[in-house]
Amino acid sequence: MGMRPGWVAGLVAESFFVACPAHENHKKNERNIFCLACCASICPHCAAAHRHHPLLQALIDLKFGADCDCNRELWGNLLGGR
Ligand SMILES: [Zn+2]
Ligand SMILES: [Zn+2]
Repeated sequence: MGMRPGWVAGLVAESFFVACPAHENHKKNERNIFCLACCASICPHCAAAHRHHPLLQALIDLKFGADCDCNRELWGNLLGGR
């Protein structure tokens, strides 16, 4: 385990792929997206409200790893827009 920025700890602590309590009546409401601005896992329905925030797809994160701040900036630029 190396140095991890705080938001990664938040990412690990959050539970993914559970139904979003705000959208429990919607389909595809698994919380598989992490908002770096809010430090919270959200579902695709929540994502519209966070579209100006840097978002991280959990699956992408698992593939590429997110152990450093450069990755945070990278994903922020790629997914969060400006
Ligand atoms: Zn957010
Ligand atoms: Zn939701």
